[in-house]
Amino acid sequence: MTGHTRVTLVQGDITEQQVDAVVNAANSSLLGGGGVDGAIHRRGGPEILDACRHLRASLYRKGLPPGQAVATTAGNLPARSVIHTVGPVYSAKEDRSDLLASCYRESLRVADELEAATVAFPAISTGIYRWPMTDAAHIAITTVHATPSQVQEVRFVLFDAEAYTVFEQVLATAERPG
Ligand code: ADP
Repeated sequence: MTGHTRVTLVQGDITEQQVDAVVNAANSSLLGGGGVDGAIHRRGGPEILDACRHLRASLYRKGLPPGQAVATTAGNLPARSVIHTVGPVYSAKEDRSDLLASCYRESLRVADELEAATVAFPAISTGIYRWPMTDAAHIAITTVHATPSQVQEVRFVLFDAEAYTVFEQVLATAERPG
């Protein structure tokens, strides 16, 4: 049902969120990286990497394509599951917005499969993948608003004050469909 999901914002570290599922801004290899990915694997411990290795050996032998999402255990994190999604690398020449929107849609679809009521998202693609924050915030918020899901709370976890302010402004002006 559209309009069911409440969007909240916090400034902080996604690995500390007590939610049903945290979303990882992973890379296609699923085998770890920097930014959110590094923090999740550091705090979550080896169980998550083990689960990712199994996924690479079975369903995703060529890696997880950008825009898709898959769940694993959350290991030692205070969450039940980690949903790994791969954001697109920003390009000024090519519009990859739909792939970024797909990360949010697919993560919510997986969250529904997990029956997650609370989901924490980072600002996907805005770190190593260089997506401009305001545009990324627009895509993130409008996609969550437009995606029917049973998730009760989507919490955007912004690492620094600047990102938090951008999301706050975009959320204040975003119109909910329906
Ligand atoms: P991507 O490769 O998709 O760009 P990154 O992990 O490099 O992913 O960055 C995504 C966003 O997450 C950036 O805005 C970055 O500042 C932020 N970030 C980095 N570490 C954390 C963390 N522990 N919790 C929440 N956000 C984080």
